[in-house]
Amino acid sequence: MNAPAHDGGRLALMLNELRLPTIGRLWPEFAERSDKEGWPATRLLGALLEHELAERAKRRIERHRTESQMDPTKTLASFDFSAVPMVSKAHITALATGESWLEKGATVLLFGPPGVGKSHLGSAIGHALIDAGYRVLFTRTSELVQKLQAARQSLQLPSALARLDRFDLIILDDLSYARKDQAETSVLFELIAERYERKSLLITANQPFSGWNAVFPDPGMTVAAIDRLVHHSTIFELNVESYRRRKAGDKQNARRRQLNDDNPFSTQLPEDGNVTQ
Ligand code: ADP
Ligand code: MG
Repeated sequence: MNAPAHDGGRLALMLNELRLPTIGRLWPEFAERSDKEGWPATRLLGALLEHELAERAKRRIERHRTESQMDPTKTLASFDFSAVPMVSKAHITALATGESWLEKGATVLLFGPPGVGKSHLGSAIGHALIDAGYRVLFTRTSELVQKLQAARQSLQLPSALARLDRFDLIILDDLSYARKDQAETSVLFELIAERYERKSLLITANQPFSGWNAVFPDPGMTVAAIDRLVHHSTIFELNVESYRRRKAGDKQNARRRQLNDDNPFSTQLPEDGNVTQ
């Protein structure tokens, strides 16, 4: 076969046309090595394609991370499991692979008072899922409800819900702060019903189910929403003291210790974890 000779400029154009930027960047160096070391053609081609695919996967994950709207610092690595002894790290790590629960559209519910790490843990699971190739959206529940309500007013609710379908997981942060207005919260119910047994939700809330009558407009809808959510669900109750308060308490105690150490004549100041913020 008489292969046509190609100059670098033409190759660059063709690679650009084919949207193969990584090969475009790497081929001169790879071709030189290949010529020098006498690689078989398949090795050169294979190496270039593999790099293109790897870069593409990396870019896709970066895009997914940006679209998720998650705080990049709230990851599993920065989560201190010893602060929440009732939450098993192994269990969270298993959920973070996404296997089985995302496929059946199951739900994770994180309950607990403010500051105990619900949002952090939700986002940590979200980041791990993005690394595993899934698509995640993290949103305050009230914000999403407002957007869906606006969509409904312009008769776009079904298409707005359909657009959310691209996410394997939606993290509804602070569900119990959603506004109690009738029209608004029924779109929340519609979202829950729409995703039921198909696409997963992770919900954080200060109040467990007993307080949700204040979120949904009528008790029937509350029961119907809870029923769908708990059907395939994992529930974590983080009943601990606020992490922030505890950290602030630790710092104060450390300061007190420092003061006591610095002054050998002082009577010991009491240690006190209670800090008002
Ligand atoms: P919640 O959503 O329950 O109100 P957050 O997740 O917002 O609480 O946590 C409050 C702050 O404390 C955040 O800055 C969070 O990163 C931090 N935090 C809470 N729990 C932990 C933890 N177990 N390990 C590390 N940081 C934590
Ligand atoms: Mg929170």
